[in-house]
Amino acid sequence: MLLEIKNLYVKYGNIEALHGISFTVDKGEIVTLIGSNGAGKTTTLHAITRVPPPEGSKVSGGDILYDGKSILNVSAHSIVADYHIALAPEGRHIFGNLTVEENLKLATYSRKDDAARKKDYERVYDLFPKMAERRYQRSETLSGGEQQMLSVSRAIMTACDFILLDEPSMGLSPLLMYDMFRVLKKLNEEGMTILLIEQNANLALKFAHRGYVLDTGEIVARGSAKDLLNNPDVKKAYLGG
Ligand code: ATP
Repeated sequence: MLLEIKNLYVKYGNIEALHGISFTVDKGEIVTLIGSNGAGKTTTLHAITRVPPPEGSKVSGGDILYDGKSILNVSAHSIVADYHIALAPEGRHIFGNLTVEENLKLATYSRKDDAARKKDYERVYDLFPKMAERRYQRSETLSGGEQQMLSVSRAIMTACDFILLDEPSMGLSPLLMYDMFRVLKKLNEEGMTILLIEQNANLALKFAHRGYVLDTGEIVARGSAKDLLNNPDVKKAYLGG
């Protein structure tokens, strides 16, 4: 397996947000972590990417293995540059005072391969024609949905082969949501491994191969996306009955 989260505990000060969770993601898979507000989904992504939330969180137990090696003490920079794991945070975390293209350029700062970088601009603009259209626009003036697209585009520009998506459906109209997930599916078909966190469990489970349900810092259900969609407890609690 590519990513293995082993009995992971995370704390904010004295408050424990993750109480020993374990899950895996295989190469080429789409795995989703679903759960309601405050379940610990974002905390999990930050623990993997070493990107601390403003107040800071701390791994207090367990391990995170990537390709069999612990990445717990790897820097946020190295996670992107050496391990090719990228986080696409909620769209509002882009650099609002920079243009779309400047945001994309920043994401490539550790890359040296000019030709491949140029190709990736074309790839992003091809996947998200809206980004090409808006390339000289200041990002803070983009719509919420366009900001989500930019967040995913930025991750692609890092040359990642594993992408962690934090609620990519947030703020998207049904049509744009369909578009976003079509693009994500295409990325996966081209070889990208995906860990998706979503509050929209229905959407996530229709898209993913496997899923885990996180409830107040614990994994309470796991299985193929199909099994979870048919699980009566999951249906009742997360899929609107
Ligand atoms: P949402 O879907 O609402 O974003 P989530 O599943 O991503 O929720 P987290 O943001 O990971 O949940 O939060 C998990 C728990 O950790 C919550 O109880 C939350 O209040 C707490 N928490 C998150 N960030 C901080 C922080 N910076 N300081 C203190 N506690 C925090």
